[in-house]
Amino acid sequence: MKYISTLILLLATTLVATSQGKIKVVSSASIFQDMAMNIGGDKIETFSIVPIGGDPHLYEPKPSDAQLVKSANIILVNGLTFEGWINKLIDNSGTIAKVYTITEGVNVLKSEKYKNAADPHAWMDVSNGLKYIENIKTALIETDPGNAVFYTANYMKYKAKLMELDKYITIEINKIPEAKRMLVTSHDAFAYYGKKYNIRLNALKGISTEAETQTSDMVRVAKAIRESGVPAIFIESTINPQVIQQIARDNNVKIGGELFADSIGAEDSEGSTYIKMLRHNTDVIVKALSQNEMTATKIDSDNSESGWLIYLIVGLVMLGALAFAVTKFNK
Ligand SMILES: [Zn+2]
Repeated sequence: MKYISTLILLLATTLVATSQGKIKVVSSASIFQDMAMNIGGDKIETFSIVPIGGDPHLYEPKPSDAQLVKSANIILVNGLTFEGWINKLIDNSGTIAKVYTITEGVNVLKSEKYKNAADPHAWMDVSNGLKYIENIKTALIETDPGNAVFYTANYMKYKAKLMELDKYITIEINKIPEAKRMLVTSHDAFAYYGKKYNIRLNALKGISTEAETQTSDMVRVAKAIRESGVPAIFIESTINPQVIQQIARDNNVKIGGELFADSIGAEDSEGSTYIKMLRHNTDVIVKALSQNEMTATKIDSDNSESGWLIYLIVGLVMLGALAFAVTKFNK
C-alpha cells in the first residue's frame, strides 16, 4: 500500500513538473498571443481571452476566462483602454500572475475625436510593434530566466521580420496616387498606421466600436469620399459591415476589401498572424485605391476591340474556306 501511494505521489509530482515546464502566457487579444508565440516558441503555452474575430472593445468575459487568468504565469495586456474590462477580470480572478502592459514605451497618439483619450491601436505602426515584442521578450525572460538565450534568439529573428514589414508597408502605400491616399473604414483603428505610412484617414466611428453610428458621421464620410474621389472604402473583420456597405452603395464606390484591425484572422485566412494581417491590409488598400477608372474603361474598350477583331478574322477565314470549296466543287 505504501509502495502504491509513493508511486502515485511520484506520478503526480512528474505531472505537475511537466505542466510547469511551459510558461502559461495569457493575452487579452489574439494579436499579442501571436507575438508571444513567435518569441516563446515551444517553451510557452499561449492563450487569448478574446477569441479570433472577436471585438476586444466590446468583449464580455466569461467565467472560464477568470479560470484562465487565474492559472496564468504571465498576463499580456495592451492597456490604453483597449480592453476596458480586463482589470476587473484580473482582480476578480485572484491570480498571482504578473501583468505586463506591452504598450509601455510606445509613442501614444491621442484621439482626434475624443479629446485626451489615448488611442489604443498602437500595433498598427510596426515601429510600435517592435516595442510590443521587446516588452514581451522582457516578460518571458523575467519569468523564465533559464531560457533567456532561447527567447532572445527568437526575438532577434522576429524583430528582423518586423523591420522588413515596416519597410514593405512604407514602400507600398507610397504607390497610391497622393489624391486618393485616404482610408475610409468602420472605426478609427488606423490612426497610427496613417501617421506612420502617410495615408489620410476617415473613419465612421471613433477609437472604440461602442457608440452607435450617427447620421452626422455618415454625412461627413460621404463628403470626404466625394472630395477625395477615392474609388473604394473598407470593411473590418471584427465589425458588422452593413453601414459601410450602405455608404458604398449611396456614394457609388466599391468595397475595397476586408481589413484586420483589432484581431488577427482565422488560421485559413490571409491575416492569420500579426505580420500577415498588416501585409494583407496594405496589399488590399494599395490595390483598391490605386485603381484608375480611366484605365479600367480603356481596358474594357480594348477588350471589345480585340473581340471584334477575332470575329472579323474568323468570319474572313470561313468565307475563304467557303469560296475555296465552291470553286473546287465547280471544277
Ligand atoms: Zn479598435
